Amino acid sequence: MSAFKTLDDLGDVAGKVALVRVDLNLPMQDGLVTDATRIRAAVPTINDLCAKGAKVLLLAHFGRPKGERHSQMSLSMVVGAVEKVLGKEVMFVPEITGDVVAQTVGILKGGDVAILENTRFWKGEEANDPELARAIAANADFYVNDAFSAAHRAHATTEGLAHVLPAYAGRSMQAELEALDKALGAPVKPVAAVVGGAKVSSKLDVLKHLVTQVDHLMIGGGMANTFLAAKGVDVGKSLCEHDLLDTATDILANAEASGCTVHLPYEVVVSKEFAANPGSLRTCNVHEVAPDEMILDAGPLAVEALADALKTCRTLVWNGPLGAFEMEPFDAATVSLARTAAALTIEGTLTSVAGGGDTVSALNHAGVAEDFSYISTAGGAFLEWMEGKELPGVAALSA
Ligand code: ADP
Ligand code: MG
Repeated sequence: MSAFKTLDDLGDVAGKVALVRVDLNLPMQDGLVTDATRIRAAVPTINDLCAKGAKVLLLAHFGRPKGERHSQMSLSMVVGAVEKVLGKEVMFVPEITGDVVAQTVGILKGGDVAILENTRFWKGEEANDPELARAIAANADFYVNDAFSAAHRAHATTEGLAHVLPAYAGRSMQAELEALDKALGAPVKPVAAVVGGAKVSSKLDVLKHLVTQVDHLMIGGGMANTFLAAKGVDVGKSLCEHDLLDTATDILANAEASGCTVHLPYEVVVSKEFAANPGSLRTCNVHEVAPDEMILDAGPLAVEALADALKTCRTLVWNGPLGAFEMEPFDAATVSLARTAAALTIEGTLTSVAGGGDTVSALNHAGVAEDFSYISTAGGAFLEWMEGKELPGVAALSA
């Protein structure tokens, strides 16, 4: 991991102005914030800067206004929710550059917080216009990026600002980068990766990268069917991307060449209908799937084999459920392996990092999210990191 500065590297910033890029792209319903997780993620950085006496200007995007003002996407809507989490008053500024921001900076005292308007109201944000970055920077002394979830985008407030102001990683960004580094950057070996979910096509680059990085690749979910089919298994009515069989074969060959052991389920849970607790439910060997059946989960013996392999590993990175976990009993494999990973983490033999929208809900469903070493809620940025890509927002911090 290339070096980046953190808030520990800040000198005396009392009275100085910090531009802090955070993730305030909050889920809302009827004008109210329904989940404050992303606000809470920004609190350590905000509190740290306030304690140091800095004036904090929060920058964030909200929705997809495509370079125009839309009152229903104004960040003024989240001010109340941020005040509630921070436990103090927060000013709102309907601009991101110019005199209005300058006047606000004049009014703010050290330790005060203001939210600037939705950065995506300005076309220069997504275009990463250096003019816009300079104009935003003109009202501040330094830049802190605490939005890992937006770091895969090279936008003015996620990347450009790092080139025009002294740049620092915020506390959440720092925690995420340190956790991801432990999982794939410089992991303790052997390393296992669990990759599941619906389709190979959505995670092709993840799979291609991981076979060169990990010792054990455990493929589950719908995407395992494509690999099984590539190996000549008849997967019946299962979700399967038949146009990707050659790609799957290539990935398996690359894994072999890299010394990566690929685990595919040899025992599966099948049913004739895509429904909870169906009458046609049964568990069988992968070679015994009937033409009118579909594979909806890995079987208990297959999961036991995965658990045994995991016990030999020191690091785990997990994206994607092993089965159609939203419906019982097709959550069983995911829940079982997640509990094994959690137990090994608690014992101290395993560093476990997981991410992905459905993966996070599956781990919550299994009741083990708290027990993993680190859970990323960054979505797209997490996947791009699993693809081995350099994230522009992170690269700019390290420059
Ligand atoms: P994440 O959001 O964590 O990246 P994905 O979106 O790739 O995960 O995959 C999750 C989806 O994959 C879930 O909706 C789940 O039902 C589906 N899935 C997993 N296994 C199967 C299967 N065998 N057949 C059909 N769908 C599956
Ligand atoms: Mg998903």
